[in-house]
This record gives sequence, C-alpha cells and structure tokens, in this order.
Amino acid sequence: MLGIAWAFVAIFVFGFTAVQSAVAAIFTWVAGMLPDLDSETGRPVRELSGVTAAVAPMLVFQHFASIGVSSDRAILAALLLYGAVRYGAPTILGKMTVHRGMFHSIPALIIAAELTFLAYYSPDLRVRVLMAFSTGIGFLSHLVLDEMYSVQWNGTRIRLKKSAGSALKFMGRESLANGMTLGLLMFLTWASLDSAGLLDPLVKQPVPEVLEITPDLPDAPAYRMADEPKGTQWQ
Ligand SMILES: [Zn+2]
Repeated sequence: MLGIAWAFVAIFVFGFTAVQSAVAAIFTWVAGMLPDLDSETGRPVRELSGVTAAVAPMLVFQHFASIGVSSDRAILAALLLYGAVRYGAPTILGKMTVHRGMFHSIPALIIAAELTFLAYYSPDLRVRVLMAFSTGIGFLSHLVLDEMYSVQWNGTRIRLKKSAGSALKFMGRESLANGMTLGLLMFLTWASLDSAGLLDPLVKQPVPEVLEITPDLPDAPAYRMADEPKGTQWQ
C-alpha cells in the first residue's frame, strides 16, 4: 500500500511517468521486505532472495544495453548473476548476519538506497533519485513497523519487548559489523556522489591546453646567437 501511495505521489506531485512510478512502487514493496534477508533461512527468505535474484540481472541488463555488450555475453552474465544471488547470497548471509543485526539499521537503509541509485540505469538523474528514494522509503517502513510491533499495550500499561530499539538504530553491538557497514556506507556515498556528478568541480583540475608541437615553425623570427655578428641567419 505504501508503494502504491508513493507511486501516486511520484506521478502527481513530482511529475514522473506512470511506468517510472510503477517501477518505484515495486521497489518500495520489495525494499519493505529487504531487511529480513538476515533472518534464519525460511520461506520468506527464499522468496525474497528469489525476487532480488530476478531484479538484479534486469538492472544489469540496462547497463549492458547502454555499453553495447553482445547479447550472448549479457545472457551469460545475467544467468550467472541470478544463480549467485539466488543460491549464493542466502548461504553467505546466513553465515554472516544475525537477525536484527546491522541489516535492521539506518546505515543499511542508506546503503540499500545508494545501491539502487548506482544500479539503476537512466540518463535522467531524477529517475535514479526516485528509485533510490523508493527503496529507502520501503526499507524505512519495515524498520518502523518492526519498532511499532515491539511496543505492547496489554490494556493497562505499555510494555517494551526485548526487541525494542533493535530495528531503527545507527549502530549495533558488534564492532566488526559496525565497521564493515560504515565502510561500505562511506564508499557507496562517495560512489553515488561521484556518479551524480557532484564531485566533478572538486576533483577535476582544469586540463592544460595541448600545444601542437611541430618540427618547423614557418612564422618564427630568425634566430641569432648573442655573440655572433649581426647578419648571421639561422633557419
Ligand atoms: Zn524485520
């Protein structure tokens, strides 16, 4: 529902096309499930990695089309990417993450949005920003709902579940996970700013004009050594 509402905002407030807004709605929907990729392997996780695995090659296809990779190679790369995300990612994530770890955090939200911004191919920067925002909003809705369900009201007083505060957070308890998340966040922030062209004025030096160097200078004045008598001409 949030995705659909967001799509209408995108159309009527920001003036995106219906197609772009529909894609944005689906991104919001999928990103709303994304944080639970860290939960113990079960049906939702398999479902989710299936969706992610299907979407990833599609995003890459847009880039292939733009740089002109042959279709055979593009198919092979897409199939390999699908397999890697579908079967590799759950195994790696299952070993690496704890439920309600750094996947349920504000930095992870920004990382997901930045990855969308970098992966989504569009010549229009606004469209990439829309997709990144859609992922961010979906992700945020998950974190907010997780927090809301950790508040219990049993009729007389409000109690907090043990899980309270574990979804909407900036830092977890594991310093290694925090460090890796922060490093990834910093790298992706730099990559996103660079990709948006915001770093150009800071990084790019003015290129010196290349002078054309030729062995002969037809217009050069005659050259004469200081101690040579006047009239000696060198060509
Ligand atoms: Zn969750």
